[in-house]
Amino acid sequence: MNTYTIASIAGDGIGKEVVPAAWRVLKTLERVQGDFELRVTDFPWSCDYYLEHGRMMPEDGLSQLEAFDAVFLGAVGNPSLVPDHISLWGLLINIRRGFEQQINVRPSRQFEGLTSPLANPNQFNLMVVRENSEGEYSEVGGRMYSGEDEIAIQNNVFSKKAVKAAMDYAFQMAEARKGHVTSATKSNGIVFSMPFWDEVFNEVKERYPEIGTKAEHIDALAAAFVTKPEKMDVVVGSNLFGDILTDIGAALMGSIGIAPAANININGKYPSMFEPVHGSAPDIEGQGLANPLGQLWTAQMMLEHLGENKAAQTLMNAIEHVIKDGIVTKDLGGNASTEEVVKAVEEYL
Ligand code: ATP
Ligand code: MG
Repeated sequence: MNTYTIASIAGDGIGKEVVPAAWRVLKTLERVQGDFELRVTDFPWSCDYYLEHGRMMPEDGLSQLEAFDAVFLGAVGNPSLVPDHISLWGLLINIRRGFEQQINVRPSRQFEGLTSPLANPNQFNLMVVRENSEGEYSEVGGRMYSGEDEIAIQNNVFSKKAVKAAMDYAFQMAEARKGHVTSATKSNGIVFSMPFWDEVFNEVKERYPEIGTKAEHIDALAAAFVTKPEKMDVVVGSNLFGDILTDIGAALMGSIGIAPAANININGKYPSMFEPVHGSAPDIEGQGLANPLGQLWTAQMMLEHLGENKAAQTLMNAIEHVIKDGIVTKDLGGNASTEEVVKAVEEYL
C-alpha cells in the first residue's frame, strides 16, 4: 500500500464546497483501487481564520506543512471580509514562495460534449508551463511625483536560474508528450528581459535536440491560442504571459470552473501545491452552483505528481465520462448541482 500525507486547505468561498467534494471522490477512488492511501490533515486557514487570529495562517504555518507529500488547496479570498492583497499574500503567495514553487503548470484541452467558444474546436491538448516566482510580478519599482507629473516604474526580474528551470521543466514535459515546446516571448518590444529569455531558450533547447521548438511573440501567440490551439503542445511563458495564456486556455475549455493547476517545487525540498485556476467565487457561494471539476482535475494532477498514475487515469476517465453525459454545472451550460456532478463521478468510479 502506497501511503501519502496531504495537507488540505479548503480556504474560502466555493473552496469550502469543492474541496470536500474532491475528497469524497478521492476516498471513493482509494476504495475501488485498493492500493494507495491519502492521509488527509485539514487546515482551517482562510479569511475566517484571519478574522479570529489576525493572520491567514499561523506564524509557523509553513513548518506545519513542510513534511507533507503535497498541499491540496481550494481557493483563497473573500474581499468583503479581508482585502485581497492581505489574504492572497498571507496564504497563497506565502506558500508558493516559501516552498519555492517556481513552476505553475496548467493544462488546457478539448472535452467531448463541452461547448467551447471556438466554433469548430479541433482536438487541442496543451500544457502551459508558467514561471511562477519572478518576472513581471516583482516588487521592484516605485512611484514618484504627483498629479500630472506622477510616474510609476515597475521592474521585471528575470534570473537565469528561474528561467532555465521553467524551460527545462517544459522540455522534459514535452519529451513525455508530443515533443514540441513553444516559447512565449516579446523580444521585439521588450528590449532587455525578453531577448534574455530568448537566449536562455536557445541555450536550453540545445540539450533537447529531439524536441521541436518555436518562439512566438505573446500577441501572436494569444491569437494562435484561439485560432489554432491544436498546433500547441507545451508552451513555456513568463509569470505574466503564462497567466494570460492560461486564462485563455481555461476559456477555450468552456469555463474557468474546470481548469486545474499545479505549483511545483522542482528541487523536491518542499511539497508542491495543487489548486484550481478559479478563485473563491463569492458570487455563487453556498448555492450548489460551484463546478467541482476544476478541483477534481487538480486532484488528478496531484495523483500523477505522487506517482499514482493508474488512479490519475481512472479519475480523468471519470471526469471525461460525466462531461460526455452532460452532467455538468451551469457554468458549462448544464443544470447539475455540485452534488449531482460529484455523485455521477462516484457512480462511474
Ligand atoms: P480571484 O480573485 O482568485 O480571481 P474571483 O472569485 O474574483 O477569484 P473566480 O473565482 O476566478 O474569481 O471566478 C470568476 C467567476 O467565474 C466567478 O464570479 C464565478 O461566477 C465563476 N466561477 C469561478 N469558478 C467557478 C466554479 N468552480 N464553478 C462555477 N463558476 C465558477
Ligand atoms: Mg478576484
